[in-house]
Amino acid sequence: MKNVTLNNGVEMPILGYGVFQIPDYDECKKSVLEALKAGYRSIDTAQAYQNEKAVGDAIKESGIPREEIFVTTKLWISDYGYEAAKKACLSSMEKLQLDYLDLYLLHQPFNDVFGAWRALEDLYKVGKIRAIGVSNFFPDRLVDLIKFNEITPALNQIETHVFYQREEDHKMMEKYGVQHESWAPFAEGQGDLFQNEVLLRIGKKYGKSVAQVSLRWMIQRNIVVIPKSVTPSRIKENIAVFDFELTNEDMMAIAKLDTHKSHFFDHRDPERVEWISTLVR
Ligand code: NAP
Repeated sequence: MKNVTLNNGVEMPILGYGVFQIPDYDECKKSVLEALKAGYRSIDTAQAYQNEKAVGDAIKESGIPREEIFVTTKLWISDYGYEAAKKACLSSMEKLQLDYLDLYLLHQPFNDVFGAWRALEDLYKVGKIRAIGVSNFFPDRLVDLIKFNEITPALNQIETHVFYQREEDHKMMEKYGVQHESWAPFAEGQGDLFQNEVLLRIGKKYGKSVAQVSLRWMIQRNIVVIPKSVTPSRIKENIAVFDFELTNEDMMAIAKLDTHKSHFFDHRDPERVEWISTLVR
């Protein structure tokens, strides 16, 4: 497994396992155990996914030493603000049955972001979290957060896949030393991603699948990937991406697939912000 080094020196696997949309306790625990058995050593969950307990139980049951697994979870907007954020972080750690987190992210750039960020800074300073970061921050919000706070986020997790490549965001994150992490590396299969002819053709040359080519393309751009699957064969397939290399020509052909548009929603769209604001409990 290749690692990336975050801006505070902490190392993180460049490929991990995401557990969004696995709310069922048994399915989530079984899938995380399967992923750990397949060699994944990084798990991405969130308060909002409601499966932190299943993730924690799987980690415990795996018998793998705690320090060998990189665990990320995220704060939901209902608990933004200084005091609420601190409380929610400790509650996530309790569900995960961990006494420290490897990475803790602000899930969305809404509500009292600055209050929440200062709570994360303080939890980081007392050693409860090894690295702190954000998710779904467009460059303007990211630079604002960096310029008016003490600690620069270690990472920004944003929608990134072959159809939405985020080159401008990537450059801005590089400028400030913020690690780029992709969510929905397969666009959840939208845009017929798994049938894409360019990706199929490239995969054929290496005996690799569309999923593997997609992940490899991001890894070669130094983007952290956290593919999700509840299918054991796919869990294994998605980690088998370190034994081939895409050429510059392959990378350029994939670059042409960029639509420069979200396949889910734009966090700058006021109607979407209105919708997300209703998801506060
Ligand atoms: P994704 O990883 O892009 O796609 C998952 C879908 O692809 C599932 O339907 C899965 O099916 C299928 N799949 C996986 N591997 C495959 C393969 N090798 N061949 C064919 N199909 C395959 O979607 P995602 O779960 O939305 O994104 C990944 C992770 O990013 C999440 O789990 C979560 O940790 C994170 N995320 C974060 C945010 C955020 O706001 N920060 C938003 C979304 C996601 P099966 O499961 O049925 O195998």
